[in-house]
Amino acid sequence: MTVPDKTSQISKVKGVGPSVAETLKQLGIESLDDLFCYFPYRYDNYEVQDLEKTDIGDHVTVQGKVQSEPVLSFYAKKRSRLAVRILTGRSLITVTAFNRPYLKKKLNLGDEVTVTGKWDRNRAEITATEFHCGIQNFTEQIAPVYPVKDGMTVKRLRGIVRQAFNQFPDKIQETLPQNIMREYRLMGRKDAIREIHFPTGRDALKQARRRLVYEEFLNYELKMQSYKQIKRNSNGGTQIDIRMETIRSFIRALPFPLTRAQERVVNEILADMASGFSMNRLLQGDVGSGKTVVAAIALYAAVTAGFQGALMAPTEILAEQHADSLQKLFEPFSVSIALLTGNVHGKERRLLLEELQEGHIDILVGTHALIQDDVLFSRLGLVVTDEQHRFGVEQRRRLRVKGKDPDVLYMTATPIPRTLALSVFGDMDVSTIDELPGGRKLIRTYWVRHEMMDRVIRFIEKELRQGRQAYVVCPLIEESEQLDVQNALDMHAEMVRKLPGFRVGLMHGKLSNEEKTEVMNGFKERSIQVLVSTTVIEVGVNVPNATLMVINDADRFGLSQLHQLRGRVGRGEHQSYCILIADARSETSRERMRLMTETTDGFRLSTFDLQLRGPGDFFGKKQSGLPAFKLADMVHDYRTLAAARDDASKLVKNPRFWKDETYFLLRRPLIEAGILDHAFLD
Ligand code: ADP
Ligand code: MG
Repeated sequence: MTVPDKTSQISKVKGVGPSVAETLKQLGIESLDDLFCYFPYRYDNYEVQDLEKTDIGDHVTVQGKVQSEPVLSFYAKKRSRLAVRILTGRSLITVTAFNRPYLKKKLNLGDEVTVTGKWDRNRAEITATEFHCGIQNFTEQIAPVYPVKDGMTVKRLRGIVRQAFNQFPDKIQETLPQNIMREYRLMGRKDAIREIHFPTGRDALKQARRRLVYEEFLNYELKMQSYKQIKRNSNGGTQIDIRMETIRSFIRALPFPLTRAQERVVNEILADMASGFSMNRLLQGDVGSGKTVVAAIALYAAVTAGFQGALMAPTEILAEQHADSLQKLFEPFSVSIALLTGNVHGKERRLLLEELQEGHIDILVGTHALIQDDVLFSRLGLVVTDEQHRFGVEQRRRLRVKGKDPDVLYMTATPIPRTLALSVFGDMDVSTIDELPGGRKLIRTYWVRHEMMDRVIRFIEKELRQGRQAYVVCPLIEESEQLDVQNALDMHAEMVRKLPGFRVGLMHGKLSNEEKTEVMNGFKERSIQVLVSTTVIEVGVNVPNATLMVINDADRFGLSQLHQLRGRVGRGEHQSYCILIADARSETSRERMRLMTETTDGFRLSTFDLQLRGPGDFFGKKQSGLPAFKLADMVHDYRTLAAARDDASKLVKNPRFWKDETYFLLRRPLIEAGILDHAFLD
């Protein structure tokens, strides 16, 4: 059987000489295959349209008659703008053409013209990218637009792709097995690739895209699923001898009974730990759902089985807080806990590392400081990372390799919509705490505009007089006139002025670690009543006496972030409030603010955010390991993704997949990625 020729040089295409080949290389196109799979990111539409039809996009082609004398005006040096009224169908519109002054003389009342460009419905105006006098018939009705760089034009690239198709029509081979093609009624690969470049119509384009998206997802999921499968079979994991009785007595000693959801995830985690493969599990649960105690139970299970545990948090504040709460929980159980952050230096650090290596420390809590090379464990069995999306793949890996295939538990409070979890955590198991501990009062959320600031301050004062505390969060720390963001420093000054008799603390990223700790401790001990802060307090901070969260310029935050911030209050017995200050000028902003006041369901908010702002907001783009797809969109194509995932999972379990010719082209990328020799992924 022949295989798609990855090495087939692009220079075999007529018209592609050395310099064009070099330009193509800049675009990442080296082989024919690369060229065929260099997909358009949008299309120019030369189908002549009727503007009264409602569903046309913003890029249109229309034909019509000139209804007014063209008006030509010059600006800057040699720039010009020409405006002319055109009657197309029953619509009278303005067409604007930049830098085509010659049109002025050519156009007469009643002339027929064909115009392509960007359609602004509100202004009934087309900004022309192409302007033809007379009726123009285009050979390509829907023309591909490719991302290009200097030295290459879209038109040129269209020509090259077309030439490649004519010359090498048979270089595109089917990769999908027949049964899958039949099941989903997918277009063949050759046709699909041709259609995606040169669509014969809208429906055909849709079908082509559907097929290629499925293929992209299937390839991705095959990697994920085979990785998972191989890891399970490799038996390299640490089998932890779970002491169920001991763990039960620990759970009984907790100051509260576990929620049902906590119990369920504890069981899932312990089962993984007891098994022979290494756990690779994501624990997600809304803010306040009680993930810390779940982590503590898992850590206790590791420790009582003779292993060490590590807990890594993204900030010093959080690490200290975790060390504190573990300290308390483990007090009666003679578990030794140490804290390692950037603040631990010199002799203290040396001693700590020695004890760790000798196995005298059972649980090491810390920040990135944990992954430094000289931090060595004697028998690391369980790694927990809190707010996992804050860490890069590489950082997580470096912590993990400090043990011999330790179990790994990732925790996140950013509720990840199922659609996204499916794709991002393709190789992980997911446990979800979907229930908050009982007895929590609902946080009341209000949205006000800036002009209400004085009332907000009176409200803060009222809470403070009752002995409560408040957070005031601002989006940026430095004055930025363009953004018109009131900064934390200003806000701090204002609060100090307007709340005499109370102590107002200031917290932002530019403070030293010592200063941060001091401010945070002041707030915890209530010597500071109001904490003005940037978003450094966002994750995990736990001060149950704080009942008021005021968020300035709330419309600058993502909903998930707002939800996280709001989760800092409502942690104690008192009624808590969240006040969003935002002028919210756009309809979307207003919609988002309203949604915040209506729901405290983190999943609902994050799903909404995902649709609105895309997945980049959930994870730092680079760090997340968010897969990059050429055509597929993880959000909108998630049904296809789910199907591809099921199919992939079945395929990798089928021995024929690893042997038969039929699957060769699907299997090959896995082999090339080194998946069979464990070199794959992080
Ligand atoms: P998160 O999931 O946001 O990390 P935490 O672990 O910080 O939540 O828990 C939030 C608060 O809820 C803590 O004060 C914790 O002691 C408390 N808590 C956890 N589990 C329970 C429970 N089952 N019943 C009552 N309170 C609980
Ligand atoms: Mg937490």
